[in-house]
Amino acid sequence: MLAITLLGTGSPMPDPNRAGPATLVTGGTEQFLIDAGRGVLMRLGGAASSAGQLSAVLLTHLHSDHITDLNDVITTRWVMTFEPSPLTIVGPIGTRTVVDHILASLGPDIGYRIAHHDDLDYPPPVEVIEVTGGKIDLGGLVGVSCASTDHKPVEPSIGFRFDYDGASVVVAGDTVPCEGLDRLCIGAQALVHTVIRKDVIENVPVKRMHDTLDYHSSPEEAAKTAARAGMETLVLTHYVPAFPSGGGEDWRKLAATHFAGTIELGDDLHRVEVHPS
Ligand SMILES: [Zn+2]
Repeated sequence: MLAITLLGTGSPMPDPNRAGPATLVTGGTEQFLIDAGRGVLMRLGGAASSAGQLSAVLLTHLHSDHITDLNDVITTRWVMTFEPSPLTIVGPIGTRTVVDHILASLGPDIGYRIAHHDDLDYPPPVEVIEVTGGKIDLGGLVGVSCASTDHKPVEPSIGFRFDYDGASVVVAGDTVPCEGLDRLCIGAQALVHTVIRKDVIENVPVKRMHDTLDYHSSPEEAAKTAARAGMETLVLTHYVPAFPSGGGEDWRKLAATHFAGTIELGDDLHRVEVHPS
C-alpha cells in the first residue's frame, strides 16, 4: 500500500488555511516529500512525520512556491538529527545550483550553530541528484522513477512515480497534458495533479493571472490524463482559486465529466490510501 498525504494544497497566493505545494508519499517505512512549499514542516508535523524521517525530497520544478521552505527542511534535518544524516534531494537540472545557493544563504546560521554546539561539527549534509527521466536509484524498497512534464517556460520540469508492493502512484507537479506524464501514468493506479480553475481565472481582470493559464492543467485536463491511463483515482491539489474547507464539489464535478474513477480533494492533510488492484 502507498499512502498519499496532501501536505499543502495551496498555491503562490498566501492562504491562512492552505500551505504551499507539498505532497507526502509513504510506502512501508519510506517517506518521500514531493516539493517543499510554504509551511511544509508544520504540515509534515501534522502528518506525524518530520524532516528527519524523510527518505528523500523530490522537486518537480524550481518555481519558488514549490521550494519556498526547502531551506527549512535542510536546516531542521541537520539540527534535529544527532549524527550526520544526509538529506537526498532529487530534482531537475538546476537543482544543484539552487541548493548550493540555499546553503550559501544559510552560511551565517551554519557558522553560528557549529560554533555553539560541540557535537555539531559538520555543515548540513546534502546529496543532490539531478534527473531527466527513468528510474532513480534511492536504495530503498519503493521504486521511484520520473519523466519530463510540460510547464514551459519553466524548464525542465518532471513528474515522479512510486511503485511499492503492487501499488503505484504518480505525482505530477505543474504541467499541461503531455506525453511524458502519459507515459509515467501507464499502469499506475493514482495520479496526484496540480490544477487551476481556468474557467474562473479567465474572468479575473488581471493579466498576470491570465499568464498562468497556459502552463497549468484544469481539473478537466487532469481528469483526461487520468482517464487516458485508465487510472482508478485522481487526487487534485494546488487549488487556484482556493475553495473553502468542505467545498470543492464544483471542482469534483468538472473532473468527473472526464473521469469515472474516484476523485479526491480537500483540506491540507487529506490522506488517500492506494492499495494494489
Ligand atoms: Zn510551477
